[in-house]
Amino acid sequence: MHNGIHHVTAIAGPARRNHDFYTGTLGLRLVKKTVNFDDPKTYHFYYGDEAGQPGSIVTHFPWEHAAQGQVGPGETQETLLRIPAAALGYWTHRLLEKGVRHDPIEKRFGETLLSFADPDGMRLALVARPGIEREPAWSGSEVPAEHAIRGLHGVTLLLADAAPTGAILTDVLGFAEQGREGALTRYRTQAPIGGVVDIRAVPGFPRGRQGRGSVHHIAFRAAGDAAQAAMVRRLAENHGIRTTEQKDRNYFRSVYFREPGHVLFEIATDVPGFAVDEPASALGQVLKLPRFLEPRRDELEAVLPAVA
Ligand code: ZN
Repeated sequence: MHNGIHHVTAIAGPARRNHDFYTGTLGLRLVKKTVNFDDPKTYHFYYGDEAGQPGSIVTHFPWEHAAQGQVGPGETQETLLRIPAAALGYWTHRLLEKGVRHDPIEKRFGETLLSFADPDGMRLALVARPGIEREPAWSGSEVPAEHAIRGLHGVTLLLADAAPTGAILTDVLGFAEQGREGALTRYRTQAPIGGVVDIRAVPGFPRGRQGRGSVHHIAFRAAGDAAQAAMVRRLAENHGIRTTEQKDRNYFRSVYFREPGHVLFEIATDVPGFAVDEPASALGQVLKLPRFLEPRRDELEAVLPAVA
């Protein structure tokens, strides 16, 4: 059983631009094209690896006219993606070629990072990881499989105080404190992907504003309903935090809560996964709707913008 991050969900601007950046420039697989179940006239795009495994998934709600977000304490500052160590040169070149400005290469906790932003200003970083080049990779994009992104490494949260959130990570979500570097505290699980949460403590800063380019929430993994229920109990008993009731997201089942640092956390089950309503070989090609929205398919298809 693995803990760690299941997916990261962000708010985007125009759908086609978002789709083209994540499947084109970054070469991720669109593993599910569906709608926001709570706002079905908006897409919900899930990008991930070949199998769409938990820990590889970055999702977006593209709202054509979303106002620009402004990152601040109580939000996710940066989303980290894994690449094979030998692919770093390829990616610096590719980002330049695609007109994506990147920051100077940086070291953090002994790892090499290449940071940049997506077209909506969402901060991303590629983290060079030795020894992962043999992990399976999506070969259906412009990015050769040897250089392809291998799922999430983790996230950096910007918080007024690391400790209260750290307590939730370690007591409930399966993480352990691994080290500190300047204002950063690193929490880690044993999971090979999605196993890192860095907290950057920034006391006294004004809150951010969610919008285009902001991470909406971070989902953590539970193997199934029983593991999720146990985590919900620990949150209530040890931390006085109540989650929402369980919501069926078709590809996983989720509960949500606001952690003490104000970031929206979700606990999502690994099951049933993205192959529940279409073959694994054909993920993401057609608009999938949950059963309760199927009667509205014509209406929704008429308002959702065309993407490639
Ligand atoms: Zn989610």
